[in-house]
Amino acid sequence: MAKRDYYEVLGLSRDATENDIKKAYRNLALKYHPDRNPGDKQAEEKFKEINEAYEVLSDPEKRARYDRFGHAMGESPFSGTEGFGGFGFGTTFSDVFNDIFSEFFGAGQERRRPSAGEDLLYNLKISFLESAKGVEKEIQIRKKVLCKTCEGEKTRPGSKPIICGTCGGRGNVRYQQGFFSISKTCHSCKGAGKIIRDYCPGCSGQGFQFENKLIKVSVPAGVEDGMRLRIRGEGNAGEKGAPKGDLYIEISVEEHKFFSRRGEDIICEMPIKFTLAALGGEINVPTIDDSVKLKIPEGTQNDKIFKIKGKGFPNMHTGKRGDQLVKVKVEVPINLSQKQKKILKEFDELLDDSNTPQSKSFFDKLRVFFSLLFI
Ligand SMILES: [Zn+2]
Ligand SMILES: [Zn+2]
Repeated sequence: MAKRDYYEVLGLSRDATENDIKKAYRNLALKYHPDRNPGDKQAEEKFKEINEAYEVLSDPEKRARYDRFGHAMGESPFSGTEGFGGFGFGTTFSDVFNDIFSEFFGAGQERRRPSAGEDLLYNLKISFLESAKGVEKEIQIRKKVLCKTCEGEKTRPGSKPIICGTCGGRGNVRYQQGFFSISKTCHSCKGAGKIIRDYCPGCSGQGFQFENKLIKVSVPAGVEDGMRLRIRGEGNAGEKGAPKGDLYIEISVEEHKFFSRRGEDIICEMPIKFTLAALGGEINVPTIDDSVKLKIPEGTQNDKIFKIKGKGFPNMHTGKRGDQLVKVKVEVPINLSQKQKKILKEFDELLDDSNTPQSKSFFDKLRVFFSLLFI
């Protein structure tokens, strides 16, 4: 089944504000939450769809990309079919709803799970030629890693956290209110079930520290501007026991003086002399590999496009290369000398209709047009 438009999923117009998005998400997520619709597969699917839409539209950067590219965004050989699915809705969910849901649906009944590490985004600039040929780059990122002193335990090595006295280690407390038995996250231990008395001196009890890391990025030949490559597990460390985030490398391709890209083809414009266009000849055309000779036939017109096969971008999946398209621009000479003008005038007198069929056909039509006008 085709993916539905994210705005449509949330019932929003494309100019919705951040606030609109949040509101729409809240309402729909409350309605379709699995706890409210136990065993209802349709509601579950809907819930997933809503979360996916919110994940993208709530992030200005992802939203902008989605507006530009739709569901095709972020496809790369590294992320495969999963694409943006890699961002679970776990984090979004807990961010927006932690309190509401723990009260409404008793999400606090389980001890809080350690949270996963965040994904990181790095913008990598590469040249046009690098995008065509592929390139190895070394980048430096700064990311969270588990604290080396406590290995993410947050306690001073040798000491142990104590069981929370408020909740008895369950991470939540229950109380009766009217008919309802309500379960709330324990605020003494924030749901962890244990309390640390003696914090790790290496990280002040954070469990992680920041580290600079050099990472080799292998950019595949044929990569396009705006594509993201995913490097699994190179994002921030999660809390102990939770998975690491991923590192996303967003590619920016610099413009080139001669070449531009259209799909897998490379386009370049070449000025040629008007005498060459008339008489025919050969020109040297630069390609991303070398320079090739291109035959210009006699009587070549302005904007004529010639194709040089197999000199374009490689397809990222098949490796098969596109073509180079050469558009010739016939240059009319300027700064003519007296002698040149004289020769051109003589030449002009020798011209007849068969030399300029386009002009002839145009003026023929024009004559008919005028004659009809004055009937
Ligand atoms: Zn530590
Ligand atoms: Zn507690």
